[in-house]
Amino acid sequence: MGLRRDLLLFPGGRKKALTFSYDDAVTQDARLAGLLNRYGMKGTFNINTGLLGTEKTYTRDGKTVTQNRFKPEQLREVYAGHELAVHGLTHLDLALAGNAAAAYEVMADRKNIEDLTGTPVRGMAYPFGTWSEALVSLLRSCGMDYSRTTKSTRAFTVPEEFLTWNPTCHHADEQLFTLAERFFEPEQKYSGPRLFYVWGHSYEFDLRGDWERMEKFLEQMSGRPEIWYASNIEISDYVKASRHLHYSADAQLIHNPTALDIWLSIDQQIHICPSGQTTNLGR
Ligand SMILES: [Zn+2]
Repeated sequence: MGLRRDLLLFPGGRKKALTFSYDDAVTQDARLAGLLNRYGMKGTFNINTGLLGTEKTYTRDGKTVTQNRFKPEQLREVYAGHELAVHGLTHLDLALAGNAAAAYEVMADRKNIEDLTGTPVRGMAYPFGTWSEALVSLLRSCGMDYSRTTKSTRAFTVPEEFLTWNPTCHHADEQLFTLAERFFEPEQKYSGPRLFYVWGHSYEFDLRGDWERMEKFLEQMSGRPEIWYASNIEISDYVKASRHLHYSADAQLIHNPTALDIWLSIDQQIHICPSGQTTNLGR
């Protein structure tokens, strides 16, 4: 008997997942959320609650766009069906701030979002993408389950450490469509879950005038039965739950102590490990 190969599948036995992360709660998010809704996708939006309602413009390469932020009372409606996550109360660089200031930026922002949405908030994106080991341990103490960096991998890897979660690419990446092709490349044998993670700021679509390019990407990625369209926290929760499966010594019994059903590919066969139950592979 050869060595058995257990690989994670996403919910429903899906082999792929797609997720989005957009920062700063600018009003262009309404158009982006509308597009995600149209194509049946879910995003995560990272909010600086201390800056809500502020207005400013931003100029790059001679082009000026607005960077107006939503008012607090608009968030529920604009982001309905999507995840709201922490981006720091005032967008302070947390890696440079002292511990107390960083903890306050995270916790005050978290509390504000929770007050607006009535849901515990456990995700975040690093302001400016900067982080340190000390900051990671601080976030753990602040109850954060994951935090996104700005370091694009151009890969589809599921992170080992969700508190330094590197995305696949920015939406303006010249390789966006090449990556999409690679994402769909068939493989002879399933070799593990593929995660496509796109990040950015929605005002950048105004800046580059590339809303249509983004919509083309969404259209290509939409309606695929093998893709799980999920928010960041759903992916983090699911993958972490899978890491809590208990195996018997002979690996024939798999107990799932979590509240989520977990799908596995075992020697290329799809198995479901139902929540709270023990699956016996020997029967
Ligand atoms: Zn930001």
